[in-house]
Amino acid sequence: MKKINYQQLSIMQLHELLVNKTLSAEELLNLVLSRLKKFADLNAVATVLEKEATEWVQSLKAMEIEKDNPLYGIPFVMKDNIITIGQKTTASSNILANFVPHYDSTINSLLKNVKAVNIAKTALDELGMGGDGLYANTGYVYNPWNKAHIIGGSSSGSTALVAAGVVPFALGTDTGDSIRKPAGFNGIVGFKPTYGLISRNGVIPYAPSLDTVGIFANYVQDIANVLDVLVKEDKNDFTNTKSLESDYFKNLKEDVSNLKIAVLNYQSYQWKDEVKSAFDQAMKYLVNGKAKVEYIDFNQELLSALLPVYMIISFAEATSCHAGYDGVNFGVQKKGSNYQETMIKSRTAGFGQVVKRRYVIGAYALSELHQKELFLKAKRVRRIIVEQINQLLANYDAFIVMPSVSPAPTIKDVLEKNNTLKAEHQYMEDLLVLANLNGSPSITIPLTIVDELPIGLNINTAPFKDQTALNIANYLSKQINFKNKLLGEDDE
Ligand code: GLN
Repeated sequence: MKKINYQQLSIMQLHELLVNKTLSAEELLNLVLSRLKKFADLNAVATVLEKEATEWVQSLKAMEIEKDNPLYGIPFVMKDNIITIGQKTTASSNILANFVPHYDSTINSLLKNVKAVNIAKTALDELGMGGDGLYANTGYVYNPWNKAHIIGGSSSGSTALVAAGVVPFALGTDTGDSIRKPAGFNGIVGFKPTYGLISRNGVIPYAPSLDTVGIFANYVQDIANVLDVLVKEDKNDFTNTKSLESDYFKNLKEDVSNLKIAVLNYQSYQWKDEVKSAFDQAMKYLVNGKAKVEYIDFNQELLSALLPVYMIISFAEATSCHAGYDGVNFGVQKKGSNYQETMIKSRTAGFGQVVKRRYVIGAYALSELHQKELFLKAKRVRRIIVEQINQLLANYDAFIVMPSVSPAPTIKDVLEKNNTLKAEHQYMEDLLVLANLNGSPSITIPLTIVDELPIGLNINTAPFKDQTALNIANYLSKQINFKNKLLGEDDE
């Protein structure tokens, strides 16, 4: 076989190789599995599906390759909070360490229908709770750019394997920023579509009013290819909404002309010169493309409320959703002398520190005594924030922010809680939550490299304007022309 650095190719390019038989699905799978081994030290995997993937590809052999099905034979990975029938699904939590589901998530079925090849379930911050990649029950997931720095989370393993070029795309979930933040920290594209657009049937919830399934890839076109498969009405998910758009790949443009784009005004923030000039240059690209760019200020008081509102709502929803993991009806059991004791023992042993802390706050916010001042108030403030952001997105086609103002911090700094951001700038690290509160599509693309680490840019549009978000991301990515150096490494 001719030597192919498959990791640099887009899904469409791989598809072409499969169609013209330069490469077989089996050969592609073997390349992917050997690259997965090469990057084993990232600790990105919860369960490897080598045997299943190999059998699946064998079964594809008998079929004619489908020319208009770009995902045919394409390997991918999936966050381990997405249920896969007959395959262990743990959400990186000890409470689910033995959970082998007897039904399938809708999205896994959809990917099987197009004969994509799932090669692994990936590690996450337990049950989706966290943003660092340090809270999976299988240990830390490492940033492939520099292992001393966090990968980000909670979709940590999916991020790592796309950034390292092991797979061309991966699935994640995003409740507060779990796709878009780690994408920024790792120089890849991370897309959270409109809330409800992709079915959550069979996705283990963290906070159902915010949870969204999304996609990682190295190229915006690949995101559109995968979206074309995943956006499908699903009666098994009550929050699933009908898309007003279709054919995301076919309709992908490299054109921002006449778009009105709002950019968060970062004037008062002291950035590193490299970040500032990369950001300014990106805005120039938009202007050159004949977009109308305006710098705006968002209500500061509301921005400061983002984190508390997100925390109260998501922790409360998680506390309620995960109450069933009691070791009796569900999950790993630690026996006690009665139900109460069994439940306490099982939950104490089954959940990690971060999760338990969140349940304590969640239970407090939901308690009869505090519900009004915490949970109900948070919901009211959410409404006010949503009104503001929706108003903004009624006046503009898109809203641009930074997914983080600096690259991934070191693991050490995170563990020691060394935060260099001044209190008045803290909200800048929480801006991505905006899109979860109102359900907007939101996409992070790589912007530049600072201190040898990537940093991203984030684009938000009004709900159901997913195509616009993809188009702007596509245009800007082509202009920025970011090179993920990890894809350049040859496989020998
Ligand atoms: N980082 C956020 C948190 O800690 C968001 C997590 C998510 O989107 N799943 O909860």
